[in-house]
Amino acid sequence: MQKGKINVQTENIFPIIKKFLYSDHEIFLRELISNAVDATQKLKTISSLGKYKGELGDLTIQVSIDKKKKTLSVKDNGIGMTAEEIDKYINQIALSSAEDFIKKYKGKSEDDKSALIGHFGLGFYSAFMVSKKVEILTKTYKKGGPTKAVKWECDGSPEYSITEIDKEDRGTEIILHIADDSKEFLEEYKVLELLKKYCKFLPVEIQFGTEKVSEKIEGEKDKDGNDKYKEVEKPRIINNTKPAWTQKPSELKDEDYKNFYKELYPYSFEDPLFHIHLNVDYPFNLTGILYFPKAKKNIEVQKDKIQLYCNQVFVTDSVEGIVPDFLTLLHGVLDSPDIPLNVSRSFLQSDSNVKKISNHIMKKVADKLEELFKNNRENFEKKWDDIKVFIEYGMISDEKFYERAEKFTLFKNIEGKYFTFDEYKKHIEKLQKDKDKKLVYLYTNNKDEQHSFIQASKERGYDILEMDGVIDNHFINTLEQKFKDSSFIRVDAETIDKLIKKEDTAPSKLSEDEQKNFKPIIEKCVNKEKFNIVFENLSEKDMPVIITQPEFMRRMKDMSALGGGGMSFMGNMPDNYNMVVNTNHPLISTILNEKDETKQKNLIKQATDLALLSQSLLKGQDLTDFIKRSVDIIE
Ligand code: ADP
Repeated sequence: MQKGKINVQTENIFPIIKKFLYSDHEIFLRELISNAVDATQKLKTISSLGKYKGELGDLTIQVSIDKKKKTLSVKDNGIGMTAEEIDKYINQIALSSAEDFIKKYKGKSEDDKSALIGHFGLGFYSAFMVSKKVEILTKTYKKGGPTKAVKWECDGSPEYSITEIDKEDRGTEIILHIADDSKEFLEEYKVLELLKKYCKFLPVEIQFGTEKVSEKIEGEKDKDGNDKYKEVEKPRIINNTKPAWTQKPSELKDEDYKNFYKELYPYSFEDPLFHIHLNVDYPFNLTGILYFPKAKKNIEVQKDKIQLYCNQVFVTDSVEGIVPDFLTLLHGVLDSPDIPLNVSRSFLQSDSNVKKISNHIMKKVADKLEELFKNNRENFEKKWDDIKVFIEYGMISDEKFYERAEKFTLFKNIEGKYFTFDEYKKHIEKLQKDKDKKLVYLYTNNKDEQHSFIQASKERGYDILEMDGVIDNHFINTLEQKFKDSSFIRVDAETIDKLIKKEDTAPSKLSEDEQKNFKPIIEKCVNKEKFNIVFENLSEKDMPVIITQPEFMRRMKDMSALGGGGMSFMGNMPDNYNMVVNTNHPLISTILNEKDETKQKNLIKQATDLALLSQSLLKGQDLTDFIKRSVDIIE
């Protein structure tokens, strides 16, 4: 037996491993299984090169727990190690890289620590996060020379021992004697959960325990002629060794992509809308499949996230910085050996490789969308309502994406017709210009509430866009910056005739003097602070009184409500409306000419209340009064 002291340069790292890496103890399992997978794949390579002539046999990696002995073991049939190799790889190289890792780790801020820890770096020694003793039993694939099986043992002090042992089969078994404070890792459900999390798509089969499956009984049928099944106990294989993203797109059908989506998100009920298969080998390696899910009402609630893998090993599902921000709303997987995983998040964001990857993903997504649009516009339109939030978000936040997306982004009008930007411009160009010849894009964000305004606009032949998406407010701002000589105005922001000047405006039926005298009479009947009385020559067919809220004021208020734009000082901005009196409506002349003051007041109240009512602004005492007054009138 050989005894030795692990050559610790600075200090005993074991207590540090335990203490510092507390938050993410569970990654030890991923690290050990990754090593087992590596050892297995190395053997396959060596064999395929003809350098190993023996049988490969069953290469399944076995994970098992023994509650009595309090051990967890990971066993592979890979290349194994000689005593010399153990000394070199475990006692020297692995240790010094673990030390490096810890040095790096200790210098980091708390934020960076948690980013660092989930990622690669600690390797084999992470086993000591959960163990009081670790054994390695290993036998090399090599024949001849000092190739006897060996056992390495270390109890968490810098001392280790290496002994020769009898071991029949090739490969390595790592046995962890689980520490008292880590007993959860002796529970089947816990280990299963971790295996499912980190190892679901590893390229070598991993077995953990058994499971009951129903199996067809060959040659036997029940009385109705149906196949008969029996329950059998089978080894439970954790992983799919050939996940869809590692296969060629030409070999996969639409169905395969959908099935893979279910495999990724077993608790998701809805099929994705479509997918993008990424496959890049220059200037970096990246494979993956991104899915466009059906957009949820609330984009913040996002359970299914993009998963990041490194050679099929799960790394993380927080991909901020790697994927353009707006695409973090997508689902799917990315796999790249080139993403520097063992660095901090702040570094990630400035890493040029990562930037390239992010740009590339953005381009691929734009390409795919454009292709869908060009190849089958009808189908694209059907999906539009579900994907628009991604695209609008992308256009708001990424200049480059905007440039690509403006070709296929659609506007939808209230009739449910879709237009590209160019098409829509042509559609409204003739009629919808304001007095400064600016193009007016009329929109509604609530067809019901703004119904009367929509009606008035439609009667004049104008088109109205439906902008009721979660981020349409912001999107409109972006579009106004991009579109030349155009403005977006909600249908209820102004009376439509004021907005879009027609050549033949009707002359006013009320003289200027009459208007001047009338104004204070109306003001006495309404809240002057809130409503600004204006007279307009509208059509006789329009309502006698109309409430509007100027576009600019409303947007300021919306923005201050969101706390954005440095406008928090306007937190309690009061609502401010225009009360437009239609000088050409016969009722207005009637009211003006009414000699009985009480009657006149009641008529004004009734007319203005109706306007308020149609904007859902009539509430409380005012509403009760209105109803009483209405009943009186009917009587
Ligand atoms: P890394 O895997 O990043 O190289 P580790 O600390 O995890 O670092 O492992 C150190 C080395 O120990 C490996 O590079 C490998 O040579 C050897 N090793 C670890 N586990 C096994 C195993 N199951 N079979 C064969 N060799 C192994």
